[in-house]
This record gives sequence, C-alpha cells and structure tokens, in this order.
Amino acid sequence: MAAIDGLPPLREVIKTHDLVAKKQLGQNFLLDLNLTAKIARAAGDLTGSDVLEVGPGPGGLTRGLLAEGARRVLAVEKDPRCLPALAEIAAAYPGRLEVVNEDALKLDAAALLTPPIRIVANLPYNVGTELLIRWLTPAVWPPFWESLTLMFQKEVAERIVAKPRTEHYGRLALLAQWRCDARIVLVLPPEAFTPAPKVHSAVVHLTRLAEPRYPADEAVLGRITAMAFNQRRKMLRSSLKAMGPDIEEKLRAAGIEPTARAEEISLEKFCALAREVAG
Ligand code: SAM
Repeated sequence: MAAIDGLPPLREVIKTHDLVAKKQLGQNFLLDLNLTAKIARAAGDLTGSDVLEVGPGPGGLTRGLLAEGARRVLAVEKDPRCLPALAEIAAAYPGRLEVVNEDALKLDAAALLTPPIRIVANLPYNVGTELLIRWLTPAVWPPFWESLTLMFQKEVAERIVAKPRTEHYGRLALLAQWRCDARIVLVLPPEAFTPAPKVHSAVVHLTRLAEPRYPADEAVLGRITAMAFNQRRKMLRSSLKAMGPDIEEKLRAAGIEPTARAEEISLEKFCALAREVAG
C-alpha cells in the first residue's frame, strides 16, 4: 500500500539503497510510518516551525515530520549511505527538506534555522544524551529551540523526568527540570525498531521555560548537585563538606536537614542551597 506521501514503504527504501544497519552508528530504524507520525505529533504543532532532525537515517521520522506539516526540516545525518533515500523525500516535499551530511556533535545547526525551532531526534543513546546536555546548557537562556522531542533508552528517559525519592532521580532530572517541563510521551518495545535493540525505548518531550524554574547560579547548582549525587547514599553534611566549614548552616538556611541524602532533596531546595552558597 502506498504511503500518504506517495513514497515507497520504508522496508523497500532500505532494500533499494542497501541500508544494512550499522551497529557503530547506533542504527535501529523505525519503519512504521504510523508510529513516526505519532512521534511527530508528540513534538507539538509543527505547522509554523522549523524542525531540526538529528539522525534521520532512511527517513521514517523525517516523513512523519513533513506529513505533519513542519514548515521546514533540517536533517543532519552522519551516514552518507542514507543521502539518496533522503533526497527522494526532499523531492516529494519541494523546498521543505534540507539534508546535511555531518556529525551533529560538530554542526552549529542554530545558524541554519529560523525560529520558532523544534528539535526532534531518534538518535544513538550516547549521542542523544550528550546533545541533550548541550541543548540544556547554552551560553544564554532561553536557548534557540522551543522544544525537544527525543528518543532515549527507557531508563535514560526515566532519569530525565524522575522525581525525588525515586530510583532514577539525580543530576539529569535536576538539570532538565530546572529549565524545562519534561514528560515521557511514548514508550516503545524493542520490536518497534529494525534491528531490535535489547531494551525498551521512550520518547521524552521537553518544553523550555522562559526562565529557570527557581533562581540559582548555574555553575554553583551544578557543583552542588555533582558533589551530592556522586555520593548519593551519604548525608549531605558529609558529601558537601568540601563546600566549606559552614555548609551545615547553609543547608539549614535552605530548609534542608544536614543529615538528609541527595535523593530526598527537591529541585526547589537545591536551588535555595545554591543561593545560600553563592551568598
Ligand atoms: N531517525 C531514524 C529512524 O527513526 O528510523 C534513524 C534512527 S537511528 C537510531 C540513528 C541515526 O542517527 C542513524 O541514521 C545514524 O546514522 C545517525 N547518527 C549516528 N550518530 C550521528 C551523529 N553523531 N550525527 C548525526 N547522525 C548520527
């Protein structure tokens, strides 16, 4: 059955262009266009937005983004073998898809896009986490993007949205939730991908806040949470000892019991402590 964009089914695209998945590029492809359309819809209303797609591969998600009405898609793909397949999509959507054959970690994509910008990606997990941290820590806030809709290993997704006193709560949750609303919008079993990975995956949607949720100096907050979670089972008065001899007073002033442990402390309290420490 022909797809709504008149392009061949993805299995055929992969066969025609001999896109045998490469493990070292983290290639686990989504071949179900209903599923890729669903992920595109999770990114919000795309009609007035430019979309940065990282790692389009054979283009399943790219086709979803274009069919859902993205004004323009800039797709950054490291593997040159995918370019002919992506060129066919560009031809089916004249003027709306630009493909760049580059390592996303090396490209300054912001300069190539017009706001409002949404970022969508199904990336290898290591690259995805590195890019997420970069996108969350730009030189100035607000960043160039409005939202991030990213596929992760389910456990990483849980670390991004985790709340205090739960197994996955830590620095990634604090960093993400300080500056964004973050939620898991879709959980996918391994069989949704070709080839199937070992674990479940999940799509996280993050919407940037205009200002960080609570005031705090980014560097101080980062230092405190790094120290606190490097020794997450220790009491804070001990894990934060290197912050100075008056750390217990500062903890109390921030409303934190010095005997509490990192995983019990809310983002709001970590920010209060960062303000105490910064003076
Ligand atoms: N988006 C496609 C899909 O959903 O079927 C492909 C997903 S596959 C998990 C990851 C894609 O990212 C592959 O096409 C791979 O070649 C590409 N990729 C890996 N590392 C990359 C990097 N550093 N920069 C850009 N693309 C990369």
